[in-house]
Amino acid sequence: MPASPTQRTRWWRDAVSAGLDLLFPAKCIACHGDLSEEQRESAICRECEERLEFIDWPVCPRCAAPVPSTNGVDLACNHCRGDKLRFQRAIALGSYEGLLRQLVMRTKADRQGVVTHALAELAWQRLRDQLLALQIDVVTAVPMHRWRRWQRGANAPQLIARRLAEKLNIPCAGEMLRLVRNVPPQVGLSRPARFRNLAGEMAVGASYHLDVNVVLN
Ligand SMILES: [Zn+2]
Ligand SMILES: [Zn+2]
Repeated sequence: MPASPTQRTRWWRDAVSAGLDLLFPAKCIACHGDLSEEQRESAICRECEERLEFIDWPVCPRCAAPVPSTNGVDLACNHCRGDKLRFQRAIALGSYEGLLRQLVMRTKADRQGVVTHALAELAWQRLRDQLLALQIDVVTAVPMHRWRRWQRGANAPQLIARRLAEKLNIPCAGEMLRLVRNVPPQVGLSRPARFRNLAGEMAVGASYHLDVNVVLN
């Protein structure tokens, strides 16, 4: 029996509502508690957001590591001093621990992109002014090896890059960087070892010509 106009309307309304739930879930991605209307875009409830270790201390403008501060004067960074870094600036959303770390780990297998979308949203809410001040021309993402992308079924860096480019109203060239070879996992490596692990492993695609890169941690 063909569906009546009322049934079709209901089906359409349910489908739209399911789509919106995927984009702006009604439940907190961390505790699964109900979200208020204004919390739905970041997909995280106020209590869980307060548990995230966002950066609210002085950081090195070059490598984003915390730096000591005395009487309001930020002292020099002893994490990157003397290091030859191939970027000018790093901006970190928070400290890689606790709930924030758990959410970042979940993006690695986040096929629907709900957690990744939430982190991009939080990054925009928290880092908006810093990102706008940089007057960025184009956004790209740290590339992921094809094999790892297939294993995980998710490419969080690309999704975050696209989202931030949309917010900044600038182009996203997600494929601009390519891996020269499959970079060994960074898990468990010290900070200097992470930089060494990546050295020389990425290249800019032949059709792109760049002078400056900004890395978002
Ligand atoms: Zn929550
Ligand atoms: Zn530094």
